[in-house]
Amino acid sequence: MCKHPLALLMLLQLALILHAQPVPKYFDGKTWWEHIKVVADDRMEGRDTGSEGLRKAEAYVVEQLTKSGLQPVGTQGFYQPMKFISRQIVERDSSIALLRNGIEERLVLGDDAFFNTRVDLEPGILTAPLVFAGYGLKIPERNYDDLAGLDLRGKIAVILVGSPGDIPTALAAHYQWAGERWKVFRAAGTIGIITIPNPASMDIPWGRMSLNRAHPQMDLADPEFHELAGQKVALTFDPARAEKLFTGSGHMFQELADLARDRKPLPRFPLLVSLRSLARVQTQPLDSDNVIAKLPGSDPQLKNEFVVLSAHIDHLGVGEPINGDRVYNGAMDNGSGVALVLDMAASLQREKLRRSILFVFVTAEEKGLLGSKYFAARPTVDPKSIVADINVDMFLPIVPLTVLKVKGLAESDLGDAATRAAESLGVRVQPDLQPLRNSFIRSDQYNFVRHGIPSLNMEIGFDPGSPEQTIFKDWLTNHYHAPSDDIRQPVDLSAAALYEEIMRKLLVSVANADARPQWKADSFFRRYAK
Ligand SMILES: [Zn+2]
Repeated sequence: MCKHPLALLMLLQLALILHAQPVPKYFDGKTWWEHIKVVADDRMEGRDTGSEGLRKAEAYVVEQLTKSGLQPVGTQGFYQPMKFISRQIVERDSSIALLRNGIEERLVLGDDAFFNTRVDLEPGILTAPLVFAGYGLKIPERNYDDLAGLDLRGKIAVILVGSPGDIPTALAAHYQWAGERWKVFRAAGTIGIITIPNPASMDIPWGRMSLNRAHPQMDLADPEFHELAGQKVALTFDPARAEKLFTGSGHMFQELADLARDRKPLPRFPLLVSLRSLARVQTQPLDSDNVIAKLPGSDPQLKNEFVVLSAHIDHLGVGEPINGDRVYNGAMDNGSGVALVLDMAASLQREKLRRSILFVFVTAEEKGLLGSKYFAARPTVDPKSIVADINVDMFLPIVPLTVLKVKGLAESDLGDAATRAAESLGVRVQPDLQPLRNSFIRSDQYNFVRHGIPSLNMEIGFDPGSPEQTIFKDWLTNHYHAPSDDIRQPVDLSAAALYEEIMRKLLVSVANADARPQWKADSFFRRYAK
């Protein structure tokens, strides 16, 4: 027992410090920030897929990986080249209108709605009746079918983004993946989809959504990947102007939006209008690469298995100016993830791990998770040897890290490993508490999931109703996919460092565990495991 008052005081202070925040062992946030300063610099022109700026950022990444002594595992050194097709709407030669009792009401592109050129739109004029199909979901596992009883043949479906509250978050997100949804509508004979964002879950306001609508969108060139083939019309409609679609139908849009906000079931019914659309699209071939590096494991058997750490390196490029700035630097989205992967590569290189680690920087995430889709379908190592994907995308260290949101927490025992890593550093974990945001399908881990690989994505969380919730909401409204997601914004370097500590611990534990990660017996996604 210590009796000296000064020593006691010192011990007490030490205990307080230890309790307040674990002392970071490997990271201080500074190297992380230095990498971000490079990849989010204006010289990188916002790293659009296929751009010179992205090539420069990837050259920097390759230089860093080489410096860390990692091995190239692309198909051309560190690179895995892919071919893309880029499509850009020419709005001055395009138009949309509603037809009601033979009377045409012209709509304004950009104000009322805009075309989605991720779809290979029908060239020429097309006219078809509209049908409101609720959330546009068919979930056989839950006996749920928004299309049941509707005649959709030759028609355009109007859907409101969302899902009923009794469908689990990850499952609801999965069936809202554009390709999954289109399978169902195509089978019903639908020729197109008008999507109305759910006003309760719009990350960014309509004005900003619409602002860059003429920016090129893309698909992989190989038809094997064309999940939206056959869709002739694709429009996103401003919810604030959606009432005009429902006139005379016996339903008000506001009534539907109120139901969707509360995740209640939606009515489904034919609308009294048809859409006439004319889309002119310019197409162009493009090339872009993934970057892949390996840290070989030390165990004679397990070194043939790979734990993937992935982050998308592309962003939105140069677009319409906001406050005079037209470079969409993507410092958090996803310079932050790229920087983390580089930090992990440098740090783990000094560690003896049983399994190998694959560091994967994917392109074209912002175009629909295309780089990871390609990599997951054509990995540069034996597909069966990939045991897990841990993906980092915009983990947002803009508040202190006390709670970690783990997407995929309940799907596999990777969730348990993440929980142990976080708790050992004094951080709580929470599942995804915002089902309407569909986070589980919104980053690259989803493509690994679809290939049966247990996957996770973690970001800094907040408790519902806390002041932090407002900080995150404001960040999305003002900075997400805006030029101000740049290196002038304030970030919490100690939160970033702590997140990196957790990530490192998780990677080490998965790489060294006797057994590879397993899906939970009740996970829906287990079906994809081979
Ligand atoms: Zn993004």
